[in-house]
Amino acid sequence: MTRQFFVGGNFKMNPATREAKIALAKVLNEATIDPSVEVVIAPPAIYLISLQDVLRKDIKVAAQNCYFKTSGAFTGETSPAQLADSKIPYVILGHSERRTLFHENSNEVAQKTRAALDAGISVILCVGETLSEREAGQTAQVVQAQLEPVIAVLKPEDWSKIVVAYEPVWAIGTGKVASSAQAQEAHADIRSFLASKVSAAVAESTRIIYGGSVTAANCQDLSKQTDVDGFLVGGASLKPEFINIINARQ
Ligand code: PGA
Repeated sequence: MTRQFFVGGNFKMNPATREAKIALAKVLNEATIDPSVEVVIAPPAIYLISLQDVLRKDIKVAAQNCYFKTSGAFTGETSPAQLADSKIPYVILGHSERRTLFHENSNEVAQKTRAALDAGISVILCVGETLSEREAGQTAQVVQAQLEPVIAVLKPEDWSKIVVAYEPVWAIGTGKVASSAQAQEAHADIRSFLASKVSAAVAESTRIIYGGSVTAANCQDLSKQTDVDGFLVGGASLKPEFINIINARQ
């Protein structure tokens, strides 16, 4: 089966102004984009609605996080129900910056994933190992431990709304991209783990995208790997080269 190529742009807490975001939307709106690619950009929460309003309709937006409760006394949080009410179709969950800086563990990521799906929101689920974990030969083990609590709360039909983003922590924002072989190996491991823990059909149909220092210069080689179904792009999603990354397979 063919999995639709997926390219996400994670703006993180960038750029600083609304004008700069509108300018990025303008670049995307005017670009020639491979129509076979699913494109999703994740601006900071406060800009989700205004950016969605100005973006061309074939580009979707994603929140960078959400909480697992529907409403209540949770200062500073946004609920999946509120995202759904604002017609936000995707949310990024478990990004390594959330895990390290904000101490989110995999059980919380699983709770949030369940809550997002229950509200009808698709999830870009991030996993990945640190440099010391990779050097200790623990990559597969770490990624599997991150996936397991999520797998436990998902029903077979939920998987069509999950995109797994393999993002080695040592490659995020460092300029140190994983080699195509390293990415392919990790993605193939994730796919066979899904086959053993969920089903062959889910393993075959779930998109596994790569993130970590993806640029226009390295995206083509990575995109040729059998198990690389797209990218989650941080720094380069703020630049015109994001268009080249979207069109990597052309
Ligand atoms: P980067 O970030 O492309 O700047 O390395 C990727 C990410 O954090 O999703």
